[in-house]
Amino acid sequence: MVPQIVVLIGGIIIVALIALVIFFERKAANSNSSDDSGNYSSENIKSEIILNSIDDGVMLVDANNTIQLFNPGASRITGWKTEEATGIDYKAVINLIDQKGEPYTDQDSPFIKALTAKAAIRDSDAFYQTKSKTTISLDIGVTPLFDDEEEFQGYIAIFRDVSAKKREEQQRADFISTASHEMRTPVAAIEGYLSLALNSNVSTIDNKARGFLLRAHENTKHLGKLFQDLLTSSKAEDGRLENNPSVVEMGDLIVNLVNDFKVIAEAKNINLELLLGGERNALSEGKSINVVKPLYFAHVDPIRIKEAVYILFDNALKYTDTGKISVGLTGNETVIQVRVQDTGIGIEPENVNHLFQKFYRIDNSQTRTIGGTGLGLFICKKIVDMYGGRIWAESEKGVGSTFYINLPRLSSAQAEDIKSREANKGVVINNTTSQQSN
Ligand code: ADP
Repeated sequence: MVPQIVVLIGGIIIVALIALVIFFERKAANSNSSDDSGNYSSENIKSEIILNSIDDGVMLVDANNTIQLFNPGASRITGWKTEEATGIDYKAVINLIDQKGEPYTDQDSPFIKALTAKAAIRDSDAFYQTKSKTTISLDIGVTPLFDDEEEFQGYIAIFRDVSAKKREEQQRADFISTASHEMRTPVAAIEGYLSLALNSNVSTIDNKARGFLLRAHENTKHLGKLFQDLLTSSKAEDGRLENNPSVVEMGDLIVNLVNDFKVIAEAKNINLELLLGGERNALSEGKSINVVKPLYFAHVDPIRIKEAVYILFDNALKYTDTGKISVGLTGNETVIQVRVQDTGIGIEPENVNHLFQKFYRIDNSQTRTIGGTGLGLFICKKIVDMYGGRIWAESEKGVGSTFYINLPRLSSAQAEDIKSREANKGVVINNTTSQQSN
């Protein structure tokens, strides 16, 4: 009897132990997924759920360029199944192309750029050919990964199919472009007729009518400027802005431009100063410009750069009642810097970072009466971006503002090289033309 009781008690203990093990295992398993309230508590499970459910493509690449993680979002976008993409070189899967359908070079690649810059790089204008050869617009951000010893560990890339958004943007831009183009012509005609009505050599009107027509004329001019700016900005946005870069000596360009500004500044009784490489030239005092200056070569379309500097000058004049506008040109070995400084109304710090956004106008008692479209600085930035430059502003409310444009500077040798290549191109074109005409 005693041995039977011992066996029974032993059996009960073993069953109890198994039950306990099962109980704790279940508990451990539960704590890995979700508790009774449905909260996910394990970090791994949380990450997996996020990676599996988000729409964005997420891809982890190791230091050998091999894909280690490719989430379902990435599969949906690219057409590559997770198991096909994982374990192969990322370049076989993420083959980006540009607007013209040309494959990205290493210089264009956000991966190489991120590795070189050791910083996150975003490319919102990339195109991608899916596995089924459909071209989509891709917005891709790449972050390089480094360990504590600064050793490269790989990349994390997050991308999104933005084809629908880009199509909508294009339709909107097309509409604005067509509408402003179509409306510019009748507005120009109205402006012309109003000018004739206001011209006492052509028309006879009483003072009351003159007052009305003057206001109509001012507003029509504003409308014409708005349509012109809309057209320019929509062209700048989709790369249709005419751009014929050549080697330009920025010193000559700025001197000529400032001479043109002189008349406009004098009409408003504003002093205009030109500073070339640190030299001071008081143009408003009528002194001629005679400065031994360094040559600042840039590869830009002079028409576009003049347009950008003109916008800065026009703003400086618009937003300055008294004092001085100073236009400066300096640089170092690699950068040319154009500066337009005024002693005008200034800008509050919270507005400075938004100035280059489309339609951004500061609305306060000082600006409300000054006409504008909010497109000038947007256009300026688009032009400067086109040449790999940078534009920014510094300002103090009530003291004045300074706008800077930095452009890449060419050495004299580079300038000569580009000039001779462009001249040769001209010869080839001329030869071809003459052969064709023969
Ligand atoms: P706008 O046609 O309104 O002048 P911009 O894009 O050229 O459009 O400028 C955007 C806004 O930035 C202006 O509305 C104005 O409030 C502010 N701004 C630009 N330049 C200056 C300046 N030199 N001084 C003060 N405010 C300026």
